[in-house]
Amino acid sequence: MSSNFKRREFLRLAGLSLGLGMSRSLVRGADDSEVHSVPREHIGYPQFGKLPLVRASQDRIVKETVGLRPFRDSGPNLGHERIGDKSVFHNYGHGGSGWSLSWGTSAQVTTEALTSGAQQFAVIGCGAIGLTSAILLQRAGKIVTIYCKERHPNITSSVATGVWSPDSRICLKDHATDAFAAWWNTTCRTSFKLYQSFLGLPGSPIEWVDSYAVSNQPWDAERPKDPNDTQPEYGHFRDYVQDLTPRFVDLDKSQNPFREPYARKGSRMIFNISTYHQTLLREFTSLGGHLVHRDFQNPAQFAELAEPVVINATGLGSKTLFDDKQMHPVRGQLTVLIPQPELNYSFSNNDAYVIPRRDGVVIGSSKNGIIDSTNLEVDPEQSFNAVAAIAQSMTKSKIAKA
Ligand SMILES: Cc1cc2nc3c(=O)[nH]c(=O)nc-3n(C[C@H](O)[C@H](O)[C@H](O)COP(=O)(O)OP(=O)(O)OC[C@H]3O[C@@H](n4cnc5c(N)ncnc54)[C@H](O)[C@@H]3O)c2cc1C
Repeated sequence: MSSNFKRREFLRLAGLSLGLGMSRSLVRGADDSEVHSVPREHIGYPQFGKLPLVRASQDRIVKETVGLRPFRDSGPNLGHERIGDKSVFHNYGHGGSGWSLSWGTSAQVTTEALTSGAQQFAVIGCGAIGLTSAILLQRAGKIVTIYCKERHPNITSSVATGVWSPDSRICLKDHATDAFAAWWNTTCRTSFKLYQSFLGLPGSPIEWVDSYAVSNQPWDAERPKDPNDTQPEYGHFRDYVQDLTPRFVDLDKSQNPFREPYARKGSRMIFNISTYHQTLLREFTSLGGHLVHRDFQNPAQFAELAEPVVINATGLGSKTLFDDKQMHPVRGQLTVLIPQPELNYSFSNNDAYVIPRRDGVVIGSSKNGIIDSTNLEVDPEQSFNAVAAIAQSMTKSKIAKA
Protein backbone atom coordinates (compact mmCIF):
# COMPACT_ATOMS: atom_id res chain seq x y z
CA MET A 1 0.00 0.00 0.00
CA SER A 2 1.54 3.34 -0.99
CA SER A 3 1.96 6.01 1.71
CA ASN A 4 -0.33 8.20 -0.36
CA PHE A 5 -3.03 5.63 -0.32
CA LYS A 6 -2.58 5.08 3.44
CA ARG A 7 -2.90 8.80 4.05
CA ARG A 8 -6.01 9.05 1.91
CA GLU A 9 -7.55 6.03 3.61
CA PHE A 10 -6.74 7.47 7.04
CA LEU A 11 -8.29 10.79 6.10
CA ARG A 12 -11.35 9.06 4.72
CA LEU A 13 -11.87 7.02 7.88
CA ALA A 14 -11.04 9.95 10.13
CA GLY A 15 -13.48 12.05 8.17
CA LEU A 16 -16.13 9.35 8.35
CA SER A 17 -15.95 9.02 12.12
CA LEU A 18 -15.93 12.80 12.44
CA GLY A 19 -18.85 13.01 10.08
CA LEU A 20 -20.81 10.64 12.31
CA GLY A 21 -19.75 12.56 15.41
CA MET A 22 -20.88 15.74 13.74
CA SER A 23 -24.34 14.40 13.14
CA ARG A 24 -24.82 14.04 16.91
CA SER A 25 -23.15 17.23 18.07
CA LEU A 26 -23.88 19.74 15.36
CA VAL A 27 -27.08 19.02 13.46
CA ARG A 28 -29.18 20.71 16.09
CA GLY A 29 -29.90 24.07 14.53
CA ALA A 30 -28.42 27.43 15.29
CA ASP A 31 -29.56 27.69 18.90
CA ASP A 32 -27.63 28.73 21.98
CA SER A 33 -26.19 25.24 22.46
CA GLU A 34 -23.97 25.94 19.46
CA VAL A 35 -23.01 29.45 20.44
CA HIS A 36 -20.53 29.93 23.22
CA SER A 37 -18.93 32.90 24.85
CA VAL A 38 -15.25 33.48 24.32
CA PRO A 39 -13.13 36.03 26.17
CA ARG A 40 -13.95 39.65 25.44
CA GLU A 41 -10.62 41.23 26.31
CA HIS A 42 -8.63 41.11 23.10
CA ILE A 43 -6.11 43.53 21.68
CA GLY A 44 -7.89 45.75 19.20
CA TYR A 45 -11.10 43.71 19.36
CA PRO A 46 -13.03 44.64 22.51
CA GLN A 47 -16.21 42.93 21.22
CA PHE A 48 -14.86 39.44 20.67
CA GLY A 49 -18.40 38.17 21.16
CA LYS A 50 -19.90 34.76 20.50
CA LEU A 51 -18.88 32.23 17.91
CA PRO A 52 -21.39 29.99 16.14
CA LEU A 53 -20.01 26.65 14.93
CA VAL A 54 -19.51 25.82 11.28
CA ARG A 55 -21.93 22.93 10.71
CA ALA A 56 -19.41 21.03 8.66
CA SER A 57 -20.94 17.68 7.89
CA GLN A 58 -21.16 15.70 4.70
CA ASP A 59 -24.97 15.61 4.78
CA ARG A 60 -25.14 19.41 4.44
CA ILE A 61 -23.37 19.49 1.03
CA VAL A 62 -25.67 21.06 -1.56
CA LYS A 63 -23.22 21.82 -4.34
CA GLU A 64 -19.73 20.90 -5.53
CA THR A 65 -18.14 23.02 -8.23
CA VAL A 66 -15.00 22.96 -10.35
CA GLY A 67 -13.64 26.02 -12.13
CA LEU A 68 -10.60 26.82 -14.24
CA ARG A 69 -8.78 29.99 -13.19
CA PRO A 70 -7.58 32.01 -16.21
CA PHE A 71 -3.92 32.18 -15.23
CA ARG A 72 -1.36 34.03 -17.37
CA ASP A 73 2.40 33.63 -16.75
CA SER A 74 3.31 37.33 -16.79
CA GLY A 75 0.01 38.59 -15.35
CA PRO A 76 -3.16 39.92 -17.02
CA ASN A 77 -2.98 41.08 -20.62
CA LEU A 78 -4.18 44.70 -20.67
CA GLY A 79 -2.69 45.44 -24.09
CA HIS A 80 -4.26 47.12 -27.09
CA GLU A 81 -4.25 46.06 -30.73
CA ARG A 82 -6.04 46.80 -33.98
CA ILE A 83 -7.95 44.00 -35.61
CA GLY A 84 -9.28 45.12 -38.99
CA ASP A 85 -11.07 48.39 -38.34
CA LYS A 86 -11.65 47.63 -34.62
CA SER A 87 -9.68 48.90 -31.68
CA VAL A 88 -9.38 45.95 -29.29
CA PHE A 89 -8.46 46.45 -25.64
CA HIS A 90 -7.59 43.28 -23.75
CA ASN A 91 -8.58 42.62 -20.15
CA TYR A 92 -7.97 38.95 -19.40
CA GLY A 93 -5.73 36.53 -17.49
CA HIS A 94 -6.49 37.36 -13.84
CA GLY A 95 -5.75 33.91 -12.35
CA GLY A 96 -7.19 33.56 -8.85
CA SER A 97 -7.63 37.32 -8.42
CA GLY A 98 -10.26 38.16 -11.03
CA TRP A 99 -13.03 39.32 -8.73
CA SER A 100 -10.62 41.14 -6.45
CA LEU A 101 -8.77 43.07 -9.15
CA SER A 102 -11.73 43.49 -11.51
CA TRP A 103 -12.46 47.14 -10.80
CA GLY A 104 -8.76 48.02 -10.91
CA THR A 105 -7.87 46.47 -14.27
CA SER A 106 -11.21 47.50 -15.75
CA ALA A 107 -10.62 51.11 -14.66
CA GLN A 108 -7.23 51.08 -16.39
CA VAL A 109 -8.47 49.46 -19.61
CA THR A 110 -11.63 51.55 -19.94
CA THR A 111 -9.75 54.80 -19.26
CA GLU A 112 -7.50 53.94 -22.22
CA ALA A 113 -10.43 52.80 -24.37
CA LEU A 114 -12.31 56.06 -23.69
CA THR A 115 -9.48 58.05 -25.28
CA SER A 116 -10.72 56.62 -28.62
CA GLY A 117 -13.61 59.08 -28.40
CA ALA A 118 -16.07 56.32 -29.36
CA GLN A 119 -19.66 56.48 -28.09
CA GLN A 120 -20.47 52.78 -28.51
CA PHE A 121 -18.48 49.91 -27.07
CA ALA A 122 -18.62 46.12 -27.34
CA VAL A 123 -17.53 44.08 -24.36
CA ILE A 124 -16.86 40.38 -25.03
CA GLY A 125 -17.51 38.34 -21.88
CA CYS A 126 -19.96 38.58 -19.01
CA GLY A 127 -17.82 37.53 -16.06
CA ALA A 128 -16.32 39.68 -13.32
CA ILE A 129 -14.10 41.46 -15.84
CA GLY A 130 -16.65 42.01 -18.61
CA LEU A 131 -19.32 43.35 -16.25
CA THR A 132 -17.03 45.79 -14.44
CA SER A 133 -15.59 47.01 -17.76
CA ALA A 134 -19.08 47.54 -19.16
CA ILE A 135 -20.34 49.40 -16.08
CA LEU A 136 -17.35 51.74 -15.97
CA LEU A 137 -17.91 52.65 -19.63
CA GLN A 138 -21.61 53.26 -18.92
CA ARG A 139 -20.78 55.40 -15.89
CA ALA A 140 -18.76 57.50 -18.33
CA GLY A 141 -21.94 57.93 -20.40
CA LYS A 142 -21.24 55.41 -23.16
CA ILE A 143 -23.52 52.87 -24.85
CA VAL A 144 -22.40 49.30 -24.17
CA THR A 145 -23.39 45.87 -25.47
CA ILE A 146 -22.00 42.71 -23.88
CA TYR A 147 -21.51 39.71 -26.19
CA CYS A 148 -20.84 36.34 -24.58
CA LYS A 149 -21.26 32.64 -25.17
CA GLU A 150 -22.07 31.87 -21.52
CA ARG A 151 -23.20 33.76 -18.46
CA HIS A 152 -23.87 33.28 -14.76
CA PRO A 153 -23.99 30.60 -13.34
CA ASN A 154 -22.05 28.78 -16.06
CA ILE A 155 -18.83 30.78 -16.06
CA THR A 156 -15.64 30.76 -14.00
CA SER A 157 -16.64 33.90 -12.12
CA SER A 158 -19.68 32.04 -10.75
CA VAL A 159 -17.60 29.29 -9.13
CA ALA A 160 -15.07 31.45 -7.31
CA THR A 161 -14.60 31.29 -3.55
CA GLY A 162 -15.60 34.93 -3.18
CA VAL A 163 -12.89 36.54 -1.10
CA TRP A 164 -10.61 39.53 -1.45
CA SER A 165 -7.53 37.69 -2.76
CA PRO A 166 -5.83 40.21 -5.06
CA ASP A 167 -2.48 38.42 -5.43
CA SER A 168 -3.75 34.87 -5.80
CA ARG A 169 -2.07 33.25 -8.83
CA ILE A 170 -1.63 36.62 -10.51
CA CYS A 171 1.75 35.88 -12.17
CA LEU A 172 4.72 33.52 -11.98
CA LYS A 173 7.44 34.40 -9.48
CA ASP A 174 9.85 34.93 -12.41
CA HIS A 175 7.64 37.79 -13.63
CA ALA A 176 7.28 39.45 -10.21
CA THR A 177 9.44 42.45 -11.03
CA ASP A 178 9.40 45.79 -9.20
CA ALA A 179 7.49 47.29 -12.14
CA PHE A 180 4.84 44.58 -11.88
CA ALA A 181 4.58 45.08 -8.11
CA ALA A 182 4.12 48.85 -8.59
CA TRP A 183 1.39 48.27 -11.18
CA TRP A 184 -0.31 45.67 -8.96
CA ASN A 185 -0.19 47.98 -5.94
CA THR A 186 -2.00 50.79 -7.79
CA THR A 187 -4.51 48.45 -9.43
CA CYS A 188 -5.26 46.71 -6.16
CA ARG A 189 -5.92 50.01 -4.36
CA THR A 190 -8.26 51.25 -7.11
CA SER A 191 -10.22 48.02 -6.92
CA PHE A 192 -10.39 48.01 -3.14
CA LYS A 193 -11.72 51.56 -3.08
CA LEU A 194 -14.47 50.80 -5.59
CA TYR A 195 -15.49 47.72 -3.62
CA GLN A 196 -16.23 49.80 -0.54
CA SER A 197 -19.09 51.47 -2.45
CA PHE A 198 -20.94 48.12 -2.52
CA LEU A 199 -21.06 47.76 1.27
CA GLY A 200 -24.39 48.04 3.06
CA LEU A 201 -26.54 47.33 0.00
CA PRO A 202 -29.61 45.07 0.12
CA GLY A 203 -28.58 41.40 0.16
CA SER A 204 -25.03 42.35 1.24
CA PRO A 205 -23.27 41.79 -2.09
CA ILE A 206 -20.02 42.70 -0.37
CA GLU A 207 -19.35 42.46 3.35
CA TRP A 208 -16.65 42.25 5.97
CA VAL A 209 -16.43 39.30 8.33
CA ASP A 210 -14.12 38.32 11.16
CA SER A 211 -11.54 35.79 10.10
CA TYR A 212 -9.74 33.12 12.12
CA ALA A 213 -6.72 31.11 11.01
CA VAL A 214 -5.48 28.21 13.13
CA SER A 215 -2.47 25.93 12.91
CA ASN A 216 -0.93 22.93 14.61
CA GLN A 217 2.52 24.42 14.21
CA PRO A 218 4.01 27.84 15.00
CA TRP A 219 3.38 30.26 12.13
CA ASP A 220 7.08 30.57 11.34
CA ALA A 221 7.68 26.78 11.33
CA GLU A 222 9.22 25.42 8.15
CA ARG A 223 6.58 23.44 6.27
CA PRO A 224 7.89 20.47 4.30
CA LYS A 225 7.08 20.74 0.60
CA ASP A 226 4.47 18.25 -0.51
CA PRO A 227 6.20 16.05 -3.14
CA ASN A 228 2.87 15.72 -4.98
CA ASP A 229 2.46 19.49 -5.26
CA THR A 230 2.94 20.43 -8.90
CA GLN A 231 2.12 24.12 -8.47
CA PRO A 232 4.60 26.58 -9.93
CA GLU A 233 5.96 29.37 -7.75
CA TYR A 234 3.67 32.38 -8.00
CA GLY A 235 4.48 36.02 -7.30
CA HIS A 236 3.27 37.40 -3.95
CA PHE A 237 2.58 41.07 -3.38
CA ARG A 238 0.24 41.26 -0.41
CA ASP A 239 2.79 43.03 1.79
CA TYR A 240 2.42 46.15 -0.40
CA VAL A 241 -1.18 46.66 0.69
CA GLN A 242 -1.06 45.63 4.34
CA ASP A 243 -2.39 49.05 5.27
CA LEU A 244 -5.66 48.44 3.38
CA THR A 245 -7.08 45.71 5.61
CA PRO A 246 -6.96 45.17 9.41
CA ARG A 247 -3.94 43.10 10.39
CA PHE A 248 -4.20 39.60 11.83
CA VAL A 249 -3.23 39.40 15.50
CA ASP A 250 -2.14 36.27 17.37
CA LEU A 251 -4.53 35.02 20.04
CA ASP A 252 -3.07 33.81 23.31
CA LYS A 253 -4.18 30.57 24.94
CA SER A 254 -7.05 32.14 26.88
CA GLN A 255 -8.35 33.87 23.74
CA ASN A 256 -8.11 30.88 21.41
CA PRO A 257 -11.40 28.96 21.29
CA PHE A 258 -10.17 26.37 18.80
CA ARG A 259 -8.44 23.00 19.30
CA GLU A 260 -5.31 23.96 17.39
CA PRO A 261 -2.68 25.60 19.62
CA TYR A 262 -1.99 28.55 17.30
CA ALA A 263 -4.72 30.95 16.27
CA ARG A 264 -4.95 34.37 14.65
CA LYS A 265 -7.81 36.77 14.17
CA GLY A 266 -8.33 39.41 11.52
CA SER A 267 -11.01 40.63 9.10
CA ARG A 268 -11.79 39.69 5.55
CA MET A 269 -13.81 41.22 2.73
CA ILE A 270 -16.04 38.62 1.07
CA PHE A 271 -18.13 38.65 -2.11
CA ASN A 272 -21.57 37.05 -1.91
CA ILE A 273 -21.34 36.14 -5.55
CA SER A 274 -25.03 35.46 -6.34
CA THR A 275 -26.18 38.81 -4.95
CA TYR A 276 -23.13 40.68 -6.15
CA HIS A 277 -23.55 39.35 -9.69
CA GLN A 278 -27.22 40.37 -9.66
CA THR A 279 -26.24 43.83 -8.39
CA LEU A 280 -23.78 44.29 -11.26
CA LEU A 281 -26.20 42.96 -13.86
CA ARG A 282 -28.94 45.27 -12.55
CA GLU A 283 -26.70 48.31 -12.84
CA PHE A 284 -25.67 47.26 -16.37
CA THR A 285 -29.26 46.86 -17.60
CA SER A 286 -30.56 49.93 -15.74
CA LEU A 287 -27.95 51.99 -17.58
CA GLY A 288 -29.36 50.72 -20.89
CA GLY A 289 -26.96 47.80 -21.44
CA HIS A 290 -27.88 44.83 -23.67
CA LEU A 291 -26.62 41.28 -23.43
CA VAL A 292 -26.28 39.36 -26.69
CA HIS A 293 -25.50 35.66 -27.00
CA ARG A 294 -22.52 35.20 -29.32
CA ASP A 295 -19.72 32.63 -29.56
CA PHE A 296 -16.67 34.03 -31.35
CA GLN A 297 -14.56 31.43 -33.15
CA ASN A 298 -11.77 33.86 -34.02
CA PRO A 299 -11.00 37.58 -33.52
CA ALA A 300 -11.65 38.33 -37.21
CA GLN A 301 -15.34 37.95 -36.37
CA PHE A 302 -15.11 41.13 -34.26
CA ALA A 303 -15.34 42.92 -37.63
CA GLU A 304 -19.02 41.94 -37.77
CA LEU A 305 -19.82 44.03 -34.68
CA ALA A 306 -21.39 47.46 -35.02
CA GLU A 307 -19.23 48.99 -32.26
CA PRO A 308 -15.84 50.45 -33.26
CA VAL A 309 -14.15 49.64 -29.93
CA VAL A 310 -14.03 46.20 -28.33
CA ILE A 311 -13.03 45.19 -24.79
CA ASN A 312 -11.88 41.58 -24.77
CA ALA A 313 -12.84 40.11 -21.38
CA THR A 314 -13.02 36.46 -22.36
CA GLY A 315 -10.90 35.04 -19.51
CA LEU A 316 -9.59 31.59 -20.33
CA GLY A 317 -11.41 31.86 -23.68
CA SER A 318 -8.53 34.07 -24.86
CA LYS A 319 -6.18 31.09 -24.72
CA THR A 320 -7.77 29.70 -27.88
CA LEU A 321 -9.33 32.87 -29.30
CA PHE A 322 -5.97 34.69 -29.35
CA ASP A 323 -3.72 31.61 -29.21
CA ASP A 324 -2.13 33.05 -26.08
CA LYS A 325 0.54 30.54 -25.07
CA GLN A 326 0.99 32.23 -21.68
CA MET A 327 -2.51 31.23 -20.61
CA HIS A 328 -3.03 28.17 -18.41
CA PRO A 329 -6.11 26.80 -16.69
CA VAL A 330 -5.64 26.30 -12.93
CA ARG A 331 -8.29 23.91 -11.65
CA GLY A 332 -10.06 24.68 -8.39
CA GLN A 333 -12.81 22.78 -6.58
CA LEU A 334 -15.24 24.01 -3.95
CA THR A 335 -17.83 22.37 -1.74
CA VAL A 336 -20.89 24.37 -0.76
CA LEU A 337 -22.95 23.60 2.33
CA ILE A 338 -26.46 24.79 3.26
CA PRO A 339 -26.25 28.48 4.20
CA GLN A 340 -25.87 29.31 7.89
CA PRO A 341 -27.18 32.86 8.31
CA GLU A 342 -25.76 33.02 11.85
CA LEU A 343 -22.21 32.18 10.70
CA ASN A 344 -20.30 35.44 10.82
CA TYR A 345 -16.64 34.51 10.44
CA SER A 346 -14.31 32.84 7.98
CA PHE A 347 -12.00 30.11 9.19
CA SER A 348 -8.96 28.19 7.97
CA ASN A 349 -6.80 25.41 9.33
CA ASN A 350 -3.80 23.63 7.78
CA ASP A 351 -6.00 21.62 5.39
CA ALA A 352 -9.07 23.65 4.46
CA TYR A 353 -10.91 26.97 4.67
CA VAL A 354 -14.50 28.13 5.12
CA ILE A 355 -16.18 31.27 3.77
CA PRO A 356 -19.59 32.12 5.30
CA ARG A 357 -21.28 33.32 2.12
CA ARG A 358 -25.00 34.13 2.23
CA ASP A 359 -25.63 31.80 -0.71
CA GLY A 360 -23.85 28.88 0.96
CA VAL A 361 -21.03 27.99 3.32
CA VAL A 362 -18.10 27.56 0.94
CA ILE A 363 -15.36 25.07 1.84
CA GLY A 364 -12.15 24.63 -0.12
CA SER A 365 -9.05 22.54 0.31
CA SER A 366 -5.86 24.46 1.11
CA LYS A 367 -4.28 22.64 -1.86
CA ASN A 368 -6.77 23.89 -4.38
CA GLY A 369 -4.98 24.56 -7.64
CA ILE A 370 -3.86 22.16 -10.34
CA ILE A 371 -2.17 23.92 -13.22
CA ASP A 372 -2.90 22.82 -16.79
CA SER A 373 -5.72 20.56 -15.66
CA THR A 374 -8.91 20.94 -17.65
CA ASN A 375 -10.71 18.24 -15.68
CA LEU A 376 -14.11 19.61 -14.75
CA GLU A 377 -15.20 16.46 -12.91
CA VAL A 378 -15.71 16.81 -9.15
CA ASP A 379 -13.22 14.81 -7.08
CA PRO A 380 -15.46 13.44 -4.28
CA GLU A 381 -12.50 12.52 -2.09
CA GLN A 382 -11.18 16.10 -2.13
CA SER A 383 -14.60 17.38 -1.22
CA PHE A 384 -15.06 14.83 1.57
CA ASN A 385 -11.64 15.53 3.06
CA ALA A 386 -12.06 19.31 3.03
CA VAL A 387 -15.37 19.09 4.91
CA ALA A 388 -13.89 16.52 7.32
CA ALA A 389 -10.91 18.76 8.04
CA ILE A 390 -13.21 21.61 9.06
CA ALA A 391 -15.42 19.22 11.05
CA GLN A 392 -12.36 18.11 12.97
CA SER A 393 -11.48 21.65 14.03
CA MET A 394 -15.07 22.31 15.06
CA THR A 395 -15.83 19.14 17.03
CA LYS A 396 -12.60 19.30 19.01
CA SER A 397 -12.66 23.04 19.67
CA LYS A 398 -13.52 24.66 22.98
CA ILE A 399 -16.56 26.26 21.37
CA ALA A 400 -17.90 22.78 20.58
CA LYS A 401 -17.26 21.51 24.10
CA ALA A 402 -18.44 24.44 26.15
C1 LIG B 1 -12.12 27.70 -7.50
C2 LIG B 1 -11.87 29.15 -7.78
C3 LIG B 1 -11.85 30.05 -6.73
C4 LIG B 1 -11.63 31.41 -6.99
N1 LIG B 1 -11.69 32.29 -5.95
C5 LIG B 1 -11.52 33.60 -6.16
C6 LIG B 1 -11.67 34.52 -5.10
O1 LIG B 1 -12.01 34.15 -3.98
N2 LIG B 1 -11.44 35.84 -5.34
C7 LIG B 1 -11.09 36.27 -6.58
O2 LIG B 1 -10.85 37.48 -6.74
N3 LIG B 1 -11.01 35.44 -7.64
C8 LIG B 1 -11.21 34.11 -7.45
N4 LIG B 1 -11.12 33.23 -8.49
C9 LIG B 1 -10.71 33.72 -9.80
C10 LIG B 1 -11.84 34.37 -10.56
O3 LIG B 1 -12.97 33.54 -10.52
C11 LIG B 1 -11.40 34.62 -12.01
O4 LIG B 1 -10.18 35.30 -12.06
C12 LIG B 1 -12.48 35.47 -12.70
O5 LIG B 1 -13.71 34.80 -12.62
C13 LIG B 1 -12.12 35.74 -14.15
O6 LIG B 1 -13.18 36.48 -14.67
P1 LIG B 1 -13.34 36.70 -16.23
O7 LIG B 1 -14.47 37.63 -16.40
O8 LIG B 1 -12.02 37.03 -16.82
O9 LIG B 1 -13.66 35.23 -16.78
P2 LIG B 1 -15.02 34.38 -16.85
O10 LIG B 1 -15.79 34.46 -15.62
O11 LIG B 1 -14.59 33.03 -17.33
O12 LIG B 1 -15.85 35.08 -17.99
C14 LIG B 1 -15.45 34.99 -19.34
C15 LIG B 1 -16.59 35.39 -20.22
O13 LIG B 1 -16.14 35.39 -21.58
C16 LIG B 1 -17.01 34.61 -22.37
N5 LIG B 1 -16.26 34.03 -23.49
C17 LIG B 1 -15.13 33.29 -23.43
N6 LIG B 1 -14.75 32.94 -24.67
C18 LIG B 1 -15.67 33.46 -25.52
C19 LIG B 1 -15.84 33.42 -26.91
N7 LIG B 1 -14.98 32.78 -27.72
N8 LIG B 1 -16.91 34.06 -27.45
C20 LIG B 1 -17.81 34.69 -26.66
N9 LIG B 1 -17.70 34.76 -25.32
C21 LIG B 1 -16.65 34.14 -24.76
C22 LIG B 1 -17.56 33.58 -21.40
O14 LIG B 1 -18.75 32.97 -21.90
C23 LIG B 1 -17.78 34.45 -20.17
O15 LIG B 1 -18.99 35.17 -20.28
C24 LIG B 1 -11.37 31.87 -8.31
C25 LIG B 1 -11.44 30.96 -9.37
C26 LIG B 1 -11.69 29.63 -9.12
C27 LIG B 1 -11.79 28.66 -10.27
